[in-house]
Amino acid sequence: TMTEVENKVIIVTGGTGLVGQAIQTVVDKEEKHPNEKWIFLSSKDANLLDAQQTEAVFEKYQPTHVIHLAAMVGGLPPTLFHGSVSSLNLTFTLLRNNILINDNVLHTAYKFKVKKVISCLSTCIFPDKTTYPINETMVHDGPPHDSNFGYAYAKRMIDIQNRGYHQQYGFHFTSVIPTNIYGPHDNFNLEDAHVLPGLIHKTYLAEKNNEPLVIWGTGAPLRQFIYSIDLARLFIWVMRNYDEIDPIILSVGEEDEISIKDVAELVVKSMNFKGKVVYDTSKSDGQFKKTASNAKLRKYLPDFKFTPIEEGIKEACDWFLKNYDIARK
Ligand code: NDP
Repeated sequence: TMTEVENKVIIVTGGTGLVGQAIQTVVDKEEKHPNEKWIFLSSKDANLLDAQQTEAVFEKYQPTHVIHLAAMVGGLPPTLFHGSVSSLNLTFTLLRNNILINDNVLHTAYKFKVKKVISCLSTCIFPDKTTYPINETMVHDGPPHDSNFGYAYAKRMIDIQNRGYHQQYGFHFTSVIPTNIYGPHDNFNLEDAHVLPGLIHKTYLAEKNNEPLVIWGTGAPLRQFIYSIDLARLFIWVMRNYDEIDPIILSVGEEDEISIKDVAELVVKSMNFKGKVVYDTSKSDGQFKKTASNAKLRKYLPDFKFTPIEEGIKEACDWFLKNYDIARK
């Protein structure tokens, strides 16, 4: 007997970003299903700060599933925001704009009776003062780092909204919590890039200008990095198979924590940089570690294979060199 296959229309907000582009790559190369139609949205399809534009895009595509990645992460937001503010503290803008984006997406999904929404939190929203390893139950345990409270509280609120839509209406809105992500299509702009794409761009410039590569801090801090393609595979698994409302951390294991210094060395090797590497210890290191546990993920997917970081970094560096003209920088 044939089982009936559910037809899905999946819209991905933030579809042009680092994670969105990785999901598109994995869908195209490995995970094409005849019963799934994927739509990758940019801010040009709908500015999600605007409720009417959000509704219009849902009206147009009639999604059954939503992967919600769009967020204001730093730097300048798109069209609704005016003026040059890059030198100012954006904490309040990050709070308000992310609240607006998330509320527009979640409430529109509710109005359109979307079957499942997967939103994206981040390990940087966890309490500043904490015990290690960090796990999914600790999201609301104490205040986030002060430098980050706008972004963090807006993200934390997604988990509260998910619970609310579930408790009151039985909706299936959930969230995932990735650690540091890197890969093709990252933001390499030195003003607001994350550590790994920042290192790749700086190494490129040091090589080009025949200068030393200057790394901020001692290089000692430890981080967990997930390759965007691995994360994309996990997102697709969550979309198809994860039934909880509570968030799930999507990360490599605690044993895969790596120092910034080791990451820098991998970048230097991948970029074939022959110059000097200097650590500017007058710059702050930030938190020494943020170790997150992937035990919950491992319970569901004990055999999932993460891309070794040396391979992932090589691919990210190659992508940057090959796509230098179009890379966000
Ligand atoms: P990117 O910065 O690469 O991409 C951001 C995406 O959001 C773009 O597609 C952008 O569209 C879209 N966007 C931003 N503002 C709006 C808006 N007002 N309306 C519509 N679309 C908008 O993000 P990432 O791929 O790095 O991040 C994806 C998610 O993962 C985010 O929720 C982020 O918080 C989370 N995350 C990221 C981590 C990382 O290391 N990068 C770590 C942990 C979590 P456009 O191209 O048109 O501007």
